[in-house]
Amino acid sequence: MDISVAHGKLGTAAADFTSKPRRLLIDNEWVDAQSGKRFAVLDPATGQQITEVAEADAADVDLAVAAARRAFEDGAWARMKPTERAKLLWRLSDLMEAHADELAELESLDNGKPVTVARAADVPFAVETFRYMAGWTTKVHGKAINISMPGDYHSYILREPVGVVGQIIPWNFPLLMAAWKLAPALATGCTVVLKPAEQTPLTALRLGELILQAGFPKGAVNILPGFGETAGAAIANHPDVDKVAFTGSTEVGKLIARAATGNLKKVTLELGGKSPVIVFPDADMERVIPGAASAIFFNQGQTCCAGSRLFAHRSVFDRVVEGVAEAASRLKVGPGLDPSTEIGPLVSDEQFGRVRGYIDSGRAEGARVATGGGTLGGAGYFVQPTVLIDVKPEMKVVREEIFGPVLVAERYDDDDLDRIAKEANDTMYGLAGSVWTRDLGTAHKMARRIRAGTVWINCHNVFDVSQPFGGYKQSGWGRELGEEVLHNYLETKAVTAAL
Ligand code: NAP
Ligand code: MG
Repeated sequence: MDISVAHGKLGTAAADFTSKPRRLLIDNEWVDAQSGKRFAVLDPATGQQITEVAEADAADVDLAVAAARRAFEDGAWARMKPTERAKLLWRLSDLMEAHADELAELESLDNGKPVTVARAADVPFAVETFRYMAGWTTKVHGKAINISMPGDYHSYILREPVGVVGQIIPWNFPLLMAAWKLAPALATGCTVVLKPAEQTPLTALRLGELILQAGFPKGAVNILPGFGETAGAAIANHPDVDKVAFTGSTEVGKLIARAATGNLKKVTLELGGKSPVIVFPDADMERVIPGAASAIFFNQGQTCCAGSRLFAHRSVFDRVVEGVAEAASRLKVGPGLDPSTEIGPLVSDEQFGRVRGYIDSGRAEGARVATGGGTLGGAGYFVQPTVLIDVKPEMKVVREEIFGPVLVAERYDDDDLDRIAKEANDTMYGLAGSVWTRDLGTAHKMARRIRAGTVWINCHNVFDVSQPFGGYKQSGWGRELGEEVLHNYLETKAVTAAL
């Protein structure tokens, strides 16, 4: 199939990458799966096949873990100096930058997201993640401590890489999630077996080629596309994997935590959310309305920290809802590779069905559709940006993560911050939230009361590679990014010498 005809905009490099089946990266070689199996990669804008990739399962995971173990114990990676690791990470980020358009096109084709967004957000943020973590390679160190035991001692603390790390990532920001996972693991000296999501393996595989081109030694990074129940579970269960880092649903996060008990591998989890956008009556409506709209509709709502619960004071509720609904109805829905597209298709037929199921369930439980609610028809997985009103706290659409362009709008009547916070916190999740007010006191008091890993004030979805990101409650364990993520990949050793 000629994808360039279907979309008009796929450059030569991306077209070339998708012109043949892609394989697994194990020990710096591109290999077929042991089983010989492959699976189809689909274009969510058309439902048609883009290419095929090798399908890893437990046998391939065994080979990849063995390669990562060799690289960690006695390969070139184990002996590499921090400055050398830093240079490799910098070289990789430069290569990614040189191939930024190609990576953005592949991401848009595979995931469905607008190519303009992939170019402006996903790719540059992924590049910066490697650069930032390159800086940390030379700054991981322990300290000497003065102990009080009788006698004469020299005692010090070492920070050492945790070992072979299994990383399992989702499809919503495929390249960026690969970067968030790989960069800190490599910076600290760990070796990696990475499983991209079955829906979106392409940019991770292209990144694998760039990793080889940058000159990473054998076995440091192994990339295994495959399915969660087979390849993913094999990583989570593997007795020779020291740590597993996962991003995805809370449901699968719990399976990972259970699987990890076999050898008590270390676990970090970045899971779902149902993040409130809390609007106070004094907020600047010129900022709230576009802000609340982009909080939910960015990336088709397939964002773990999406502002999926609008929570507005009764005195401004109607105005905010009307404004957000109006903004939603103006968003241009279309194929990701069309540069005028603002909302692309959902990632897969399954996700398309799930999101439509939530809209139907909201209607059935008595919610009203203020805008959207439908699909575009045709072959792709397009859902209209949707705002639901007349919702109740017990409805499924209010309680569960929809992971699509669907906002539920709730009104609050209270003026007491504690009670407002209590309602906003009435969710099993605790990933993020935003507070919209002109009052500094209200803003910072609410920032303290919200039980979540990230709070934004008069903004939403503002990220930086230096900021820790992760969840309270059932939104996860541990933090991504910043200095904080390094702890996920380091062990602490106390050394004491009697002098
Ligand atoms: P998911 O199943 O949690 O997928 C995330 C990753 O885990 C994928 O690589 C997946 O593999 C893998 N996986 C699945 N089952 C596994 C298992 N038993 N053991 C090890 N790994 C496993 O998410 P999904 O099914 O794609 O999406 C379902 C819902 O999850 C969404 O509607 C959304 O609510 C939520 N979600 C949240 C995030 C987030 O960033 N917080 C991201 C994605 C989805 P394969 O997909 O390749 O089979
Ligand atoms: Mg795909």
